[in-house]
Amino acid sequence: MRVRYSPLAQQFADIDSIFDDLRALVASGDFTLGKPVREFEEMFAAAVGVKHAIGVGSGTDALKIPLRALGLGPGDEVITAANTFYATVGAIAEVGARPVFIDCDDTFCMNVDQLEKAITLRTKAIIPVHLTGDVAEMPRIMEIAQRHNLPVVEDGCQSLLGEYKGKRVGTWGAATAFSMHPLKIINVWGDAGIVVTNDDEMNRKVRLLRNHGLRNRDEMEILGYNSRLDSTQAVIGKWIVRKLPDIVVGRAAAGAYYDQGFARIPQVRVPPRRDYTKNVFLLYILFVKDRDALLKHCIDKGIEAKVHYPIPLHLQDALKHLDYKVGDFPVSERHCREGISFPVDQHLSRAEQDYVIETVNSFYNG
Ligand SMILES: *Cc1c(COP(=O)(O)O)cnc(C)c1O
Repeated sequence: MRVRYSPLAQQFADIDSIFDDLRALVASGDFTLGKPVREFEEMFAAAVGVKHAIGVGSGTDALKIPLRALGLGPGDEVITAANTFYATVGAIAEVGARPVFIDCDDTFCMNVDQLEKAITLRTKAIIPVHLTGDVAEMPRIMEIAQRHNLPVVEDGCQSLLGEYKGKRVGTWGAATAFSMHPLKIINVWGDAGIVVTNDDEMNRKVRLLRNHGLRNRDEMEILGYNSRLDSTQAVIGKWIVRKLPDIVVGRAAAGAYYDQGFARIPQVRVPPRRDYTKNVFLLYILFVKDRDALLKHCIDKGIEAKVHYPIPLHLQDALKHLDYKVGDFPVSERHCREGISFPVDQHLSRAEQDYVIETVNSFYNG
């Protein structure tokens, strides 16, 4: 059996209505900040349950632009988790600030016990990352942030519609970044990102910053970027955001099914699941013995297993100047050695999942 990683071919199997909408867009010539962008932003804000959603060029820009709106720049520090995806630190670096890492725990979210100790006089923001689709310990993070008067920008790129005790990702921080890259929960046909916020002033600034800082056609209020969500991508976004509730139900069910199946295999460890978070399973990561050999075995058996991510950020060449070393973030480092990712999505069949579980079981137990 072949078990593919990406569900995109199934996702976009029936797209005639998208082409009808794209034809109408082309006829209108409304390509930059056009009507589909506004419509998509409204639909997205309603789906998350926030006041404002602002489409931008990528998930990375959806982090960078709120950091700029908060006034961050050179000399400032931003605390985030050492096990995040490259883009989180890329966004911090792009505004000229310095990423400061703390470790994660086995939920893949930041270890909040380390947060307060990492705060210095230069700290200007905290970015909790809701990695893999689970949700960081937001009440404690918000309490610490408020005590130190620090803004929180959520990296929600992996946890669209994730919840902590019924409260959604995107409703905690000053702003939250989401991505619609082809590997995220909802996908357009290329790069796209979106910022959500309940704060009117943040909304105003992000709208300025994504479009050259322009207040209107002729007046530039602040220096900004060209980071608009393309109208063409917004057409795809409108089509797929309607499916978001079903996508999330499907992913969560697939994750729960793996959890049950893998719980019976002694050589693998299912990450701890908290019954008060809603995990939307962008990634399904298992901690295993002999990871590299298992990875090869699965690939040989037709399963597109992967590793997210083999090298922790603090040991990447690009971040040498931060002077971190092996052993600084032992949990993140262990995840790089023991973690294996299996396909998980709304289109994966139970037969495919059974095959993945049985392939892992046969690797260890014949
Ligand atoms: C994908 C991702 C991003 C950035 O998204 P892009 O759209 O690829 O720029 C940021 N943070 C995390 C945790 C991500 O997974």
